[in-house]
Amino acid sequence: MAIAQATQAPGSETGTRRVVSRRIRGRATSDGAGVRLTRVIGGLDLPDLDPFLLLDEFRSDDPGDYLAGFPDHPHRGFETVTYMLAGRMRHGDNQGNTGLLRAGSVQWMTAGRGIVHSEMPEQEDGLMWGFQLWVNLPREHKMATPRYQDIAPERIPEVDLGSGVRARVIAGRLRDIEGPVHGIATEPHYFDVALPAGAAADVALPRDHHAFAYVFEGSVRIGPAESPVEIPRGELGVLSSGEQLRLAAGPDGGRLLVVAGRPLAEPIVRYGPFVMNTRDQIREAIEDYSQGRF
Ligand code: FE
Repeated sequence: MAIAQATQAPGSETGTRRVVSRRIRGRATSDGAGVRLTRVIGGLDLPDLDPFLLLDEFRSDDPGDYLAGFPDHPHRGFETVTYMLAGRMRHGDNQGNTGLLRAGSVQWMTAGRGIVHSEMPEQEDGLMWGFQLWVNLPREHKMATPRYQDIAPERIPEVDLGSGVRARVIAGRLRDIEGPVHGIATEPHYFDVALPAGAAADVALPRDHHAFAYVFEGSVRIGPAESPVEIPRGELGVLSSGEQLRLAAGPDGGRLLVVAGRPLAEPIVRYGPFVMNTRDQIREAIEDYSQGRF
């Protein structure tokens, strides 16, 4: 990549290189039955980043912060993506589906027309760490049949990006390596990238996908080599459009999520765990749920 850039006149790639257009710091909140977490997307600072509706990081080694879990609750009209870094969560829904989310695994749940499920810690002590991302569904998929993609850690390929940089490819494609999550309407890319100190790498993304980078360890300099923005742990960079994303490690290395998706540009009406296009559809969701039709 360095060679390709060196052979081009400065600025000739303008419009294809992504830069940080906005920085968002996560805010402490709680959800479920009182689980403490950091909300990065879905709060007042960044209500959504089409097609992404929410990003939470949960990280604690104090059982009091997570033991209450997320007892039975509904979802309709979007997808929930849980990526675990440490700890174990037991998932179960009203259709008899159960699964164990363990360190390194991903669950991509397409709630569609609706499920009622619970996500409860399966540990009484130790570190619980991971992320939940909500991905919107286009109008024509909001009432689809619910679908799960439960991905074990060993099914997530790791790509070597050179100089010690490693990326786990959960969804989408990176250097011809395809992630195991398939058939998602917004054509998402979801990468977990780890950079040792002193390392840098380029990541290709579809030019018009909306994208963000969320740093969860160390710090990462994001954007063109001549004008990067250093993003520390706990902060998200909203990215401009473009085909190339340059990542360089901060002084102590860094690790981040790089996530991109095709924007839907549809009206969003949200009411807690229901995300639809119109208020009438929200009323219908509330009624269907209260009548036990999920
Ligand atoms: Fe849920």
